[in-house]
Amino acid sequence: MLDTRPLLIQTDAGPTVTSDFPRLRRSTVTTLQVNLGYLCNLSCTHCHVNAGPKRTELMDLATVELVLDYLRLHNIRTLDLTGGAPEMNSHFRHLVTQARAMGVEVIDRCNLTILGEPGYEDMAEFLAQQQVVITASLPCYLEQNIEKQRGKGVYGESIRALKRLNELGYGRDPGLRLDLVYNPDGLSLPPAQQGLEADYKRELLATHGIVFNQLFTITNMPISRFGGMLLAKGLYQQYMDILRHNYSAANLATVMCRTLISVDYQGFVYDCDFNQMLQLPLIVSDRMRPHLADILRQDLAGNPIATADHCYGCTAGQGSSCGGALSD
Ligand code: SF4
Ligand code: SF4
Repeated sequence: MLDTRPLLIQTDAGPTVTSDFPRLRRSTVTTLQVNLGYLCNLSCTHCHVNAGPKRTELMDLATVELVLDYLRLHNIRTLDLTGGAPEMNSHFRHLVTQARAMGVEVIDRCNLTILGEPGYEDMAEFLAQQQVVITASLPCYLEQNIEKQRGKGVYGESIRALKRLNELGYGRDPGLRLDLVYNPDGLSLPPAQQGLEADYKRELLATHGIVFNQLFTITNMPISRFGGMLLAKGLYQQYMDILRHNYSAANLATVMCRTLISVDYQGFVYDCDFNQMLQLPLIVSDRMRPHLADILRQDLAGNPIATADHCYGCTAGQGSSCGGALSD
């Protein structure tokens, strides 16, 4: 039976009462999600990490080595690399090569346009050589909508990158997986994942000859840049009402924080990328803000998860995670 009492979280600012979102506990961690820094060649309107070309925060080599130690010690199956543009961290190739040598599946959350930037021309070949899974954001298959969210010229660059990836075997070869990510713009929840995937596949093939494996639909979280936009326009409460109104308890069993932990560029650990942005740290008994070094040998199974109102973004409708919808 799920306990729906509000959870009390210890933060640096003292105890914080969260929302009526159900309390959750972690099972075995199988995925380590690592934010390599906030540097990005784009600055999208929906970005929940406020990344951009002027950000300077990047994971250093000592922390990258700690990540590799964690993978080894905990038999982690998947390393999920985020940013910013994760490829812009100078230790990206070292981390990928070492993790792949251990047999860990590596996911690169790629914005596509980075593959055409000066200095990154051979990145696509590197990713193919290492059989890195590419999960690429393409918020729509229509040029106008993409440029509204991501900026001018982004559509053309994204299409060029997808064609290049297809040429390398991505989306065609079973060992080279290419998944796309859709984020709605505005206040709506994403439409049904399967139907939208069929539309994307048909349109991208007909218009550009592009193929890919799967489409992930992801709900925009009411935090960071998107949350700020909602607050600025007086739409925050309306969006929260939509998320609450569409709450589906069935999604609680598969929210990503049950099997994942998220590490920030300095090595501090959170239940997920969203909690990382909200600075809601992982709850462990003897640490206010645990670092990966503190939990290197700790089994986190059964630990409580720091939930709050934004978690309704993961459970609304079909549910949402970094791997798309949680239910059909
Ligand atoms: S590409 Fe991704 S990380 Fe970069 S600004 Fe856009 S949403 Fe943020
Ligand atoms: S935002 Fe989602 S993934 Fe993160 S703690 Fe809440 S329910 Fe879990």
